[in-house]
Amino acid sequence: MRRIVETAVLCLMAGAPALWAEDQTPQPEATTALTERVSAEAQDFMVAAAHPLAAEAGYDILEAGGSAADAAVAVQMVLNLVEPQSSGIGGGAFLLYGDAALGRLTSFDGRETAPAAAGPDYWLTPEGEPMDFFAAVPGGKSVGVPGTLALMKMVHERYGKLPWATLFEPAIAMAEEGFPVSQRLAASIAEAEGLASFPGARALFFHEDGTPLQEGETLRNPDFARTLRLIAADGIGPFYHGAIARDIVAAVKTETNPGVMTLEDLAGYRVIERDPVCMEYRSWEVCGMGPPSSGALTVGQMLGILSHWDLPAMGEGVPATHLFLEAANLAFADRGLYMADSDFVDMPEGLLDPDYLAGRAELIDPEHAMGEATAGEPPWDEAALRAPGLAAPEHGTSHFVIVDAGGDVVSATTTIEQGFGSQVVTNGFLLNNELTDFSFVAEEDGKPVANRVEPGKRPRSSMAPTVVLEEGVPVLLVGSPGGSRIIPYVAQALVGILDFGLDPQEAVDRPHVLSRNGPADIEEGPEAQAMADALAGLGHETKIRDLNSGLHAIAITPEGLIGAADKRREGEALGQ
Ligand code: GLU
Repeated sequence: MRRIVETAVLCLMAGAPALWAEDQTPQPEATTALTERVSAEAQDFMVAAAHPLAAEAGYDILEAGGSAADAAVAVQMVLNLVEPQSSGIGGGAFLLYGDAALGRLTSFDGRETAPAAAGPDYWLTPEGEPMDFFAAVPGGKSVGVPGTLALMKMVHERYGKLPWATLFEPAIAMAEEGFPVSQRLAASIAEAEGLASFPGARALFFHEDGTPLQEGETLRNPDFARTLRLIAADGIGPFYHGAIARDIVAAVKTETNPGVMTLEDLAGYRVIERDPVCMEYRSWEVCGMGPPSSGALTVGQMLGILSHWDLPAMGEGVPATHLFLEAANLAFADRGLYMADSDFVDMPEGLLDPDYLAGRAELIDPEHAMGEATAGEPPWDEAALRAPGLAAPEHGTSHFVIVDAGGDVVSATTTIEQGFGSQVVTNGFLLNNELTDFSFVAEEDGKPVANRVEPGKRPRSSMAPTVVLEEGVPVLLVGSPGGSRIIPYVAQALVGILDFGLDPQEAVDRPHVLSRNGPADIEEGPEAQAMADALAGLGHETKIRDLNSGLHAIAITPEGLIGAADKRREGEALGQ
């Protein structure tokens, strides 16, 4: 029996850690109507994901005795079907797995890779100019070699308890019988410029007369059901070596922006198991995904800088928000210059060095905004040899978190990049446009850009699946979509829960105020103008706007599990 206990307020136990206590885009991900929410509570297991059907699939697997790895596979396959604009087997993902029995946290890198034929001038026009970002997104050229399915297979092999094929049953049934198009999917289809010009996408998301599917209409995806049946029966072979691989290679040869991916690129894809990047923050260790993601390093730098102030004593308010913005500006300056796929680029060891970050914190004036921050010089000889890359907008992603009955945990961020990725559909799923996460320029003033395209390289990400440890044990799982805003979304949720003692749902839902070394973005809402005025008084340039995070979090407390699903999206936290 599914049991969701909702609590309005999480009581703080005396003496307990505070934990318990620029963008224009043609294919944005639509926001949902905002309704107030409260945290979900459970004792044994929990899943929080961006769509109720995905959360239910995960719940059912956990209830049947499945591990967090088993549930992750089921959740991902259903997300691919019901939230196709955001993630799926045509994309890439990062997943943190906490193995309770071994007391070990591992990060799995299922990021897309550049085909062997892609080089530094990949995104330059014949005249040598960087292509327009939105002109580069649609079509096969932006498609990186997908990693999500291989990642799911590796995590299942390592930690799965239920048979692989069982995990595909919920998505297969839903793909065959159909499911109701959600408000957000309907809005995303309606707003996605050019989507109907791709025959596969047109067949899937539009009526025969070319009108987009509406909220509540039934979407069936028999091609995807067939794909999942094949993978359930034969494993990932058909996808990386067989019939599906051949279809992917054919599909990326689009008329506009043809791709260069080959069968060898797909056959050569490898998931990489990496040590998580962890940052000590007050009494916690905040762990996340290292390069090729900039997520954990940038979140870690922000926290390392903020640790120089007593935020719990300051409480929420303008002074703490100012510090948060300045910490973000400093961290984003380093991100722009240094961070990329460290298998291809030497990165400074010292980016999380406490002394280095103490020096960065000294640059902050609590009374006045610093304006644009410049990158620091961590103790590393090659630092000066890099040129900053151009920032690109990013939009199509999903985050889910899982705790199983045995205490294993998953925090996973999964993406096809923009809403509907490259818009190219094959075998019932969309292919990503992750290669536009590379810098479009390869060098500046003779200096190489760290995140330039190179064959086999993984584009820099902002995804920040996070697991917070206390004395080595997971106590909080969190992450979000949102392109490079993922980093401040996650950092803000961490500060809200860890420093201000907020209940996870409150922390997730409170209005965002963030920066990425540019103007301060302030989330639209009743308090926005007052916040903008106060920050302007400190010298910040401000912009009030819609901020469409999709945070999902689970706090693991002595009293049980407390889950939150961002009110800005359609997700749900379910547990027992
Ligand atoms: N492609 C982005 C990244 O890997 C994520 C896109 C999004 O969150 O919307 O950082």
